[in-house]
Amino acid sequence: MRTRFAPSPTGPLHLGHAYSAILAHDMARAHRGEFLVRIEDIDTTRSRPEWENLIYEDLNWLGLSWDGPVLRQSERQQAYRDTLQWLWDRNLVFACTCSRRDVIEAATAPNEGTPPQGPDGVIYPGTCRARTSDGGKIPMPEDAALRLSMSQTGVALRDHGILDFEELDTLGNLPTRIRFTTDEVSREIGDVVLARRDMGTSYHLSVVLDDAHQGITHVIRGEDLFEATRIHVLLQHLLGLKTPVYHHHRLIRDDQGKRLAKRDDARAIRTHREDGASPDDIRRMVGL
Ligand code: GLU
Repeated sequence: MRTRFAPSPTGPLHLGHAYSAILAHDMARAHRGEFLVRIEDIDTTRSRPEWENLIYEDLNWLGLSWDGPVLRQSERQQAYRDTLQWLWDRNLVFACTCSRRDVIEAATAPNEGTPPQGPDGVIYPGTCRARTSDGGKIPMPEDAALRLSMSQTGVALRDHGILDFEELDTLGNLPTRIRFTTDEVSREIGDVVLARRDMGTSYHLSVVLDDAHQGITHVIRGEDLFEATRIHVLLQHLLGLKTPVYHHHRLIRDDQGKRLAKRDDARAIRTHREDGASPDDIRRMVGL
């Protein structure tokens, strides 16, 4: 068993992060497995070395030790690029220059109010869908976002039928099998961005490639990412990667029931630390 904690160094860790990290760490340790840390710093405008250092400080203070060197996504650009090129050459991604506003306008039917939403926002209306490599004839553009073509993905995976992944609802119990089809993903999520123009990659692409690269067997993360997992499983099939087991845990909320966001600095682990809380207090606060 190999689990991981994969924070983005864009702010201080809060109780929700601590919960994720503790679950993943304790699960690996209970099974004599490994627990890895990965820094998800593809957003170079928001990632800061100070936040990365604070992550290590907080994890150490919580008593969580990790195995092997930390992987930083900013060092994996070539791997992301190579995969995008592979997808581009097979018409599985297309170039998109739509702004957020273009997408909303094109997706909004006249007189019908808000357009349909998926987990990544408005479902892409398909404006640039024809801008593929044309079977490898057109070079991959440098100045456009790349979106996964759900129609081509459907064709590529047509022999797979129903896709699935195993979800551990409670750690220790037998997993539930979550099933879905590419048609459902196409309808409910749509042509997701796999490479942002400003980043050259995306959360979805990087997380899938890196979980595979690091040989992660069990992905433990918040239930806000449950929908995204269908995208990840689809990508794993397209790219011939193994699907790990998932556990999407409940989210830690504040007293008003609001989800803790990183900007809620009052709830930062560091703040609790400075207020004299112990690592066991943190475990209690997140219900462990
Ligand atoms: N980097 C993501 C975050 O900090 C977590 C991604 C994941 O666990 O898949 O929210």
